[in-house]
Formats: sequence, structure tokens, C-alpha cells
Amino acid sequence: MIPLFDMAAELAPIRAEVDAAIRRVLDSGVFVGGPEVAAFETELAAFAGARHAVGTSSGTDALLAILMALDVGPGDEVVTTPFTFFATAGAIARLGARPVFAEVDDATLALDPAAALAACTPRTKAILPVHLFGHPAALPVTEIPIVEDAAQSLGAGPVRGLAAAISMFPTKNLGALGDAGAVLTDDPALADRIALLRNHGARPKYHHVAIGGNFRLDALQAAVLRAKLPHLPAWTRARRAHADHYRALFAAARLPAELRLPPDHPAHVYHQFVIRAPRRDELRAHLAAAGIATEVYYPEPLHRAPCFGALGLRVGSLPVAERASAEVLALPIHPALAEAARTEIVRQIARFYER
Ligand SMILES: *Cc1c(COP(=O)(O)O)cnc(C)c1O
Repeated sequence: MIPLFDMAAELAPIRAEVDAAIRRVLDSGVFVGGPEVAAFETELAAFAGARHAVGTSSGTDALLAILMALDVGPGDEVVTTPFTFFATAGAIARLGARPVFAEVDDATLALDPAAALAACTPRTKAILPVHLFGHPAALPVTEIPIVEDAAQSLGAGPVRGLAAAISMFPTKNLGALGDAGAVLTDDPALADRIALLRNHGARPKYHHVAIGGNFRLDALQAAVLRAKLPHLPAWTRARRAHADHYRALFAAARLPAELRLPPDHPAHVYHQFVIRAPRRDELRAHLAAAGIATEVYYPEPLHRAPCFGALGLRVGSLPVAERASAEVLALPIHPALAEAARTEIVRQIARFYER
């Protein structure tokens, strides 16, 4: 079997460092917040080139906290992409605001800056692009605050908008041993507001100056992430090298012209390597039968999700995103993926199209 992710293989060579981090937390008796979280925030901010990092309980809660800090609520609109994980739009809708889905770029599958600007109205409180699959998205040039969903793109360059939400869900490029996230920003007032909101708006303790939530990062996750963060550049280099190898293998194989590879970018961190494949579902079944795991990110563009049915966006309203949903296929690209596995994956894809 060639798995899509291999967390055990990633952990094995650094197991002693991770075990030591866990032991440190157990011995400290501090399990929420505290010095491990503060140290991780400092190290993460330095790594990401941001002035501030605020740890959160997940990437979802990082998005939610940023939008809460911007006072996004009922009557407001946030322009975003329909071609993303649910949390992007879910964070908007949970605050009573309207997610306004705009079309994506056909090459990168990220929110098209021109379409995003065209979708703005006087009610638009923010624009929320996603650096999908680790590819840095082009951002619109506007006075409207830009909140970046960087859940898949840690290491792909500095924060360019007002703030960025990152996820450290176990399968992300920097994965915790459970849920974890962070907000990155250069704005000290915004960082302070998010730190307030993540702890029920209490300052000092039991004096609530804002309505926040429990968006706190666990000390155990912070300590494990501190052990893993120094390895992220090497893991990213491995992902990029795998992408280069895939490109060489695909170039040498006989494949239909409609099979498209993802566009490259100097800062791409290849959270996923997503091809556009004719007869995608048949190809996926062929690869599964050959022991190769793949995934479809995302089979349903969010404007077609039943929970957003009230927005009234019919089939055909965002055709680029809809076509992508029918064609995308993510191939394994985790750092420990062996050369023989990459060769076998492309060989099996070529075999499928030969028939
Ligand atoms: C993973 C992810 C999130 C949510 O992060 P969690 O840590 O799982 O809450 C949000 N947006 C995108 C694009 C993601 O891939």
C-alpha cells in the first residue's frame, strides 16, 4: 500500500525529541497555555516572518477568532472561494455573516482576485482567500481587509494580508498530535485582541471585556510542535523535490493532453500535489486497486453544499470551481514518500490511460 499520508514515518526519526517534549509537559503540570505555548508562539512567529503568532485550538478557531476580532457579524459579507475546506466559509457563516462565493482561477484553483473584487459591496467586511494546496494565492489589491486562510501553506511566505490563519491538524505540513492552530499577524493590536478572544475575552481573569470563546492551544501540542518545527524546512524541501520528480515522470510518460499538473510557484510548499484528470473517478479506482491511496479535495464546491442552499447559487453559477470538483485528484506527496512509490504512481496512471 502507498498511503496518502504517513505520520508514523514522519515521527519515527524524531521520536526521542517528541517524547522529551511530552515528558517536559507532564513534569511541568501546566497543560493549557503557559511557557510552552509562549515559546512556541515566539518560535513560530520567527519561522513565519510575522511579528506576532497567537496559538489557537485549531485552524478553524484561528479563522473564527480573526473574523471575530474584525467584528464580522449579521449584515456583513465576506468574499471567499467556494473551492476550499468547509472551515473557511463555516467561520463566516457561524458569525451570522454571509459568505459571498466568487469564482476561482482555472490554473491555481484559488480565489480569482478580479472575481473577488467584483463580488465586493458596501457590506463587504473582509476578503478571505485560501492558499490552496500550499500554493501562495494572488491577492486582490484593495483597502478591504484581507484575511488569509493559510491552513495548508505554513512556510510559503510572509503574511501579506491583515492576518493569516494556520492549521496544525496532524496531516498538515506541520502537524500536531491532535488539533492545533495559530494566527499570524504583523498588527500588534489585532494579535492582542485575538489573545483576548481566545480566552473568553477575560482580562484580567474573570473580568470579561469581550465575548470570546475557548480557542486556546494546549501546552502538550505546543511542546510537540516546538520539537517538530525545526524539521519543517527539510520536510518542505522533500515535498518540493517530490513535486519536481513527479513533473519529470509525467513529462516522460504518454498521457492524455487534458491531464493537467498543478502550476508551480517558487514558494509552493506542496501540502498537496493535485492533478486534473480526465475520467477522474475511474482513475482513482484503478489506483486504489493498485494499492495507491488518493483523495479528492474537494468533491463538492461549497456554494453547492446543502447548508449554503439559502444563498441560491445553482449548478453552473461558478463553473470553474464546479469543473475542478469533477477533475481534481490528490496524489501522495508526504515527505517520506519513497522514489519507487512515485515511479509506481505515475506508471499506474500511464497504464490506466493506455487502455
Ligand atoms: C485544515 C483546514 C482548515 C481548518 O483547520 P483545522 O485545524 O482542521 O480546524 C481550514 N481551511 C483549510 C483550507 C484547511 O485545509
